[in-house]
Amino acid sequence: MAKLIEHTFAVPTEVEPGILRVTLPLPSGPRHVHCFLLRGDDGWTLVDTGLGLAEPSWEDILAQVDGPVTRIFITHMHPDHVGGAEAAVRATGAEVLQGRLDYSQCERVWGSTDWPERIADWFVIHGVPAAVAEELIESGHVFADFVRFVWNPTLVEPGDEVDGWRVVATPGHADGHLSLLRDGVLVAGDTLLAPITPAIGLYPQSRPDPLGDYTETLAAIAELDPRVSYGGHGETILEPAARARAIAAHHDDRLDRTEAALAAEPRTGYDVSHDLFGRTLPPIQRRFAVAEALSHLERLVVLGRALRDGDGRTVTYTAA
Ligand SMILES: [Zn+2]
Repeated sequence: MAKLIEHTFAVPTEVEPGILRVTLPLPSGPRHVHCFLLRGDDGWTLVDTGLGLAEPSWEDILAQVDGPVTRIFITHMHPDHVGGAEAAVRATGAEVLQGRLDYSQCERVWGSTDWPERIADWFVIHGVPAAVAEELIESGHVFADFVRFVWNPTLVEPGDEVDGWRVVATPGHADGHLSLLRDGVLVAGDTLLAPITPAIGLYPQSRPDPLGDYTETLAAIAELDPRVSYGGHGETILEPAARARAIAAHHDDRLDRTEAALAAEPRTGYDVSHDLFGRTLPPIQRRFAVAEALSHLERLVVLGRALRDGDGRTVTYTAA
């Protein structure tokens, strides 16, 4: 069993020639996020930017690196990857590259002031009690305050080249998630992680079957068989194909458990989240638990192993 690496924050560390890892603190979740610096002919490409906490500053971090950062690449619009983009631009003057689909979702979520309310309404439809939804709104606004994405980045598409790296679509953890691939090296964002597994959740106004997307992504990575994968949290992955297969098996198992939680009596995503993740979770974790339960329920619906129903106010699921 892999032991979680000790993190030295904000000190760029060479993980292989031409690739530096920069680890930044997070106030919650895995408590850290990795960004990467990829050496190129005209300077470094910075992949992801952290949450946007004031400390440590990108100025202090990049003062330890030889040469300029000439571009910033965002793997996906989650707060701990895109939130520091504005600060990173201030420190570097570099242009930001972000996926077209990912940026449209980024703008819709972080560019609005009522996203916590909209997502709370949606969770109520999926059975979350109003009191829990209220707490989600509050914590959502606290988190959103840190996020400073960059408006109107240079939009990229899967198949594009970024300083010799190929842009690869890796949807699932986020609809528009992009990774970078060159010479058997995958810079994977949150697509492939160890020892934790990436959260695969269903969210409003998003693709309908994120676990189906992710299953295809994992199969593609196993097929691609890169030499090494650098993820946004946790350990460097030295056997990416094996890790992709292990994560796929983990979700197959969770699908079985989700199916077992269904019966003839209608149940909501909130109900099923208790079977999968336990009864006692703080609201912020319940949010991920419900989103994850829903991604598995919707996958089961697509596979013909569950039925979606509802009374117009609440969405429910039954055994197929
Ligand atoms: Zn993420």
